[in-house]
Amino acid sequence: MKKVILGLILLILIAGTLIAPASADSWQNKRAPIVFGAFPSAYEQPVLNAMGTWNTAGSNFSFYYDSSRSRFEPRSIAFYMGNTINTSSAAASTNYISNGYIVDSVITFNSSCNWTTNGSRAPDVQTVALHELGHSAGVGHTSNSSDVMWSGALPVRRNLTTNDKNALKSLY
Ligand SMILES: [Zn+2]
Repeated sequence: MKKVILGLILLILIAGTLIAPASADSWQNKRAPIVFGAFPSAYEQPVLNAMGTWNTAGSNFSFYYDSSRSRFEPRSIAFYMGNTINTSSAAASTNYISNGYIVDSVITFNSSCNWTTNGSRAPDVQTVALHELGHSAGVGHTSNSSDVMWSGALPVRRNLTTNDKNALKSLY
């Protein structure tokens, strides 16, 4: 009887390991390069500003921009301006996962939106870049409507909340 119970416990432990939900996806080496594909050059600086905002959030993760990389460089976060599948979305991001780690990310800004870069109104390139870069790092949506990682349409919001920062810190 003892052997049966021990076997049962072992089985539960093994099964638990197999069915345990995987932790949120992250970049394995905690660094991710940003590249620009078919993306307006005037919108690059707002993206780099957003990059800097996440880089000072207090986590061990950082984005970096390497201008020597080509737009088709793999293992990167690539920005494009084009058609999003959900046409009502200002932007969309897709992460590609390998062995539980993010290895590639593509961010597409909706070319049908009337974008601004001066922060006077939404949709603001820097605000949306900040949100989408969060996803590229592995951060999901938060439940607080004042966060950058809130799922709804964002007003101009260029600073991360403590909640946003903690979401990144929980991954890295
Ligand atoms: Zn989102």
